[in-house]
Amino acid sequence: MDADVVVVGAGPAGLAVAACLGRAGVAAMVVDRGRAVGESWSTRYDRLHLHTPRIQSALPGLRMPRRFGRWVSKDDMAHYLRVYAREHRITPVFGTEVGRLERAGDGWTAETGAGEIAARQVVLATGYAHSRARTGWPGQDGFPGRVVHVTEYRNADEFAGARVLVVGAGNSGAEIAADLAEHGAASVHLAIRTPPNVIPRQFGPVPATLLAIPMDYLPARLVDPVNRLLQRIALGDLTRYGMPAPHAGVVAQVRATGVTPTIDVGLVAALRAGTVTPVAALERFDGAEALLGDGMRLIPDAVIVASGYTPGLDPLVGHLGVLDARGVPRAAGGRTVPGAPGLRFVGLFNPLKGQLLQIGMDARSAARAIARELAAPVTCPPGR
Ligand SMILES: Cc1cc2nc3c(=O)[nH]c(=O)nc-3n(C[C@H](O)[C@H](O)[C@H](O)COP(=O)(O)OP(=O)(O)OC[C@H]3O[C@@H](n4cnc5c(N)ncnc54)[C@H](O)[C@@H]3O)c2cc1C
Repeated sequence: MDADVVVVGAGPAGLAVAACLGRAGVAAMVVDRGRAVGESWSTRYDRLHLHTPRIQSALPGLRMPRRFGRWVSKDDMAHYLRVYAREHRITPVFGTEVGRLERAGDGWTAETGAGEIAARQVVLATGYAHSRARTGWPGQDGFPGRVVHVTEYRNADEFAGARVLVVGAGNSGAEIAADLAEHGAASVHLAIRTPPNVIPRQFGPVPATLLAIPMDYLPARLVDPVNRLLQRIALGDLTRYGMPAPHAGVVAQVRATGVTPTIDVGLVAALRAGTVTPVAALERFDGAEALLGDGMRLIPDAVIVASGYTPGLDPLVGHLGVLDARGVPRAAGGRTVPGAPGLRFVGLFNPLKGQLLQIGMDARSAARAIARELAAPVTCPPGR
């Protein structure tokens, strides 16, 4: 074996697992295809702040400083991750992309560009937002405008005066539409296939994701009527501004589709001001025109694609029977899928309460289970 434990991914999830293992005296080899700790945050769009409050976003074993404020900026988050890795003496091996995993004896082998790694235990922490859910539309090759994926968007500067179509009204699409409208785009249309549940970032003084903690455990039929009422009181009737009504309540929608609510950090003001116009889903391009699901045609200068992500785990473990129909692992944290002992997943679910809190919980239980199997005790306090 090259290592007792290999952790794949040095984002928040991989670092949290390695930190909790370290506290148990279990050394893990952390590998990542990227170049540096915090990269998945430092490279996101300028305006981004966490939607979960600081106290709900810290990883096990390290507080976030008060000076980060209630809503932590993406650069502070990247900085926090660098400090987190340093304090826990985690030195990931970068530039190493892990491919297919295979069971080998009582452990695992993982393919990498530089050869195979063998380990008794493997934790996959490759990120829920790993792969683009959709990469193109019919006729896109003939479209003369720019098509930019949300991961390439930094700010509205280069879209000043442009007619922009944003595809997808999830958290990134909704915020970027507002950003464009506030910073000089000539027009902003927001193409919507799955009508989102839009909620405020906080209800009065209480962050929405704190209220969501019990909702992850309660039946949808109990909490969704209350959610609907709160949404209506806080934001009013958004169908007045052209937003389609969601097909299901907040909890029902996340359980059925994995789609979490869109937290309002500017969209609703832009809808009210008429500077963002909701439209039907993008179906295809016809020359310079974008054709929408209801037959409408737009001539955008640029299209920003924010149509969601998938965990992209098929090439790694799709052949092992550990994924469900949506490509999400069938076990999380300390648990394993029958037939795949010693293979664990952290950060690959999208709960209402926010992934960072879930990552902390799953990292602790994964480390506890691994330490037990490798016969070492673990204590890993919360980061708050
Ligand atoms: C725009 C945005 C805003 C978010 N805001 C919040 C928020 O406010 N609150 C919250 O709780 N959550 C939020 N999340 C969700 C989640 O907390 C973050 O995505 C977080 O970074 C997830 O951490 P992770 O370690 O699971 O994944 P990532 O941060 O994506 O890290 C995964 C790592 O794995 C590496 N990797 C991937 N595949 C391989 C491979 N095959 N081999 C080797 N390395 C690999 C990548 O290079 C990367 O470094 C947000 C997500 C996005 C996209």
